[in-house]
Formats: sequence, C-alpha cells, structure tokens
Amino acid sequence: MTNRKPEDHVKLFLPGPTEVREEILDAQGRWMIGHRMPEAIQLFGRIQPKLRKVFRTEYRVYITASSGTGMWEAASRNCVAKKVLHCTNGSFGDRWIDVARSNGKEVEVLEVEWGKPVLPEMVVERLGAGGFDAVAFVQNETSVGVANPARDIAAAVRAMPDGQDITIMVDSVSGMSGMEMEPDLWGIDIVLTSSQKAFALPPGLAFASVSDRALEKAKTVPYRGYYFDYVELEKYLVKDQTPATPAISLLYALDTQLDTMLAEGMEHRWKRHLVMRDLVVNWAVSRGFKLFSEDLQYASPTVTTIENTHNLSIKDLNGFLRTRGMIISNGYGKLKDKCFRIGHMGDWQVADIEELLNNMDEYLQTIGIAVGETA
Ligand SMILES: *Cc1c(COP(=O)(O)O)cnc(C)c1O
Repeated sequence: MTNRKPEDHVKLFLPGPTEVREEILDAQGRWMIGHRMPEAIQLFGRIQPKLRKVFRTEYRVYITASSGTGMWEAASRNCVAKKVLHCTNGSFGDRWIDVARSNGKEVEVLEVEWGKPVLPEMVVERLGAGGFDAVAFVQNETSVGVANPARDIAAAVRAMPDGQDITIMVDSVSGMSGMEMEPDLWGIDIVLTSSQKAFALPPGLAFASVSDRALEKAKTVPYRGYYFDYVELEKYLVKDQTPATPAISLLYALDTQLDTMLAEGMEHRWKRHLVMRDLVVNWAVSRGFKLFSEDLQYASPTVTTIENTHNLSIKDLNGFLRTRGMIISNGYGKLKDKCFRIGHMGDWQVADIEELLNNMDEYLQTIGIAVGETA
C-alpha cells in the first residue's frame, strides 16, 4: 500500500533535500524492530563496512539520528581543546563558526570572499601564528557553489612543523559521495555529512568518519557533551549498536542506498556528478548567465550557483517548473534573488538534468530570452 500519488511528486533539483528514489522510500516501510534485537545489530553490522567504503576510510563512521548540524557540534565538542581555525567562504562555513562558539570554543576565523575558494597557503599562514589544535573548513560550500581544495589544504597543514598535531575537520555535507574525498589518503581526521544531500536519502541521519588520532584526542577533551560524544558512540559502534535509539527506518533506507552506491562505484558516482555539473555550467554560460564561482576549477560538482544576470523572477521560474513537476532553488541567504541554484546531486542522471534544462529553456523563451541551441 502506498500513499504516494504521482500528482504530488515534485522532482527536487535542490541542494538538499534531494530527490529520493521510490526503492528507497519503500525500504523504510519494513516492519519495526527493537534496536537491541539481533536483527538491528545485523543491520548496523551490514551498514558499517559499506559506509566505510563510501567514505573511503579504514576507521569508523558514526551514525547519529540528527541532521548534519549535530555532527558539526560533535566535531567542535570532541576535538577542539585549545583553539580552532575556522575557514569560511559562505553561509555554512559561517554557521559552523556559530556552533563552535556557542559550545564555548575559542575560534579564529579565516574569511574568504564569497565566490572564491579557501586556498592552502591562506590556511597555513593563519595556522602559522601558532596555538591551534584544530582547523575546520567546508569541502563544498553549498551557499555559493564553490568547492574548496580539501586534498591540498590537508596536505599543506600536514606539511607544517606541528601539522601532525592539528585535527583536520571537514564538512562535506553536500559533497560526500558526489565528489572525490579520501580522508585516509589525504590525512583528514573528521569528515561529516547528512543523509539528505548527495546521499539522496530522506533527512534525519548524519554521518562522520573519525580517525583513530581524533578519537584518541577526544578521550582527553573535557565536556564533550552527551548525545554526540565520540567516546560513547565508539563504545557502542564496536558492538554494532548506537547508545540511543537509532532512526531504524532510515537505516533500512541507508542499507539499500549503500548497495546502490557501491554497485555504481564511487569513482563513477564522482564522475557522473562532474558530467552533470559541466552540463549545467555550459547551459548557464551559453544562456548569458554568469557563474557565482569565479574560477571554474573550483565550481562545485553537486550544486551550481548561477548569478541572476537576466534579472529573472525566480519565483515565476519555479512556478513554471512546478507545472512541469520539478523545482530548483533560489540563492542562499543574502543571495536569495541575486542567484539561483541548481542541485545536481545524488541519484540524478544526465538525462534528468537535460530534461530540467530543456524546461528552463522553454521558460526563458516565454519571457523573450534567446536560447539558441537547446542544451
Ligand atoms: C546542508 C548543509 C549543512 C547543514 O546540514 P543539516 O543536515 O541541514 O544540518 C551544513 N553544511 C553544508 C555545506 C550544507 O550544505
């Protein structure tokens, strides 16, 4: 039995929540189980190795019943003892700073102009002043569509004289599984994400890979809090459990989705996102729009932020798209009307993006903007 009516379906080309396939929606509908029952322990035990493959880590991936914001708090609480350098080039980087400060952490901020990337040399210069035991940045800044070079930043930090003592914490909420991320190879201690972005699951779960080094450090940090305490999460993880009741229905969905991801293969999944990104970028430029990300090299693989150079009513555009059963996103925060964003992440395929862009072209034509060749 389903209560999903086809006429209620709106295809989400948003940078989260993203489209969830029917197979995944169905997977949530299995019979409920108790979280200390063998069935739940088997489920968790099945998930863990698959999740590590998706995260490309030999360590561990904690799962919490929260959104990604909870894992921000976890990273700040567990792994900042002295002072953390927060690098930001957008709204989400800014919000993580608020989280760290509201947890009483001493924060210094490296602020980069929106549209530009955080670069390794900037990070090294600030860390060079000394006194830091952690650095935090966003791999894929969803508000501006800029991907920061996580690999290079991590390499530069590790190459510093005291670089091995710094906990590197990365928000890959809108990146993980949609773009290259190699925590172990790149020397990143913590990578955190949410279920409703490139994972293409319903909202409600958050994940964080945590290195041994970060876990050992956490054991020495006082006041880690309760719900997001890595040490407590670890105690249960080794028994294939969680300290508190997990979101069991979402774990069913995750179990199924991990199979799909691994069947595609991570390299293929990353590549598919780049192909979708290039399609959107070329469409935007050929229609006379400008990208908000100034340098194409740093254009996000999962979300494209497009400057509203034609002064479109984004509300009307979305109104039109709704008649075609789909929706895109306006700009984030202060960029609300200045930009619009197309989410091309998760399980969308190239053909879906083409369908969206053809509809966008139709809208542009109705308001008298020449589109030339269709996408
Ligand atoms: C969406 C998002 C968040 C917030 O995640 P929630 O799951 O909504 O708490 C944090 N960082 C980035 C980069 C995001 O895109």
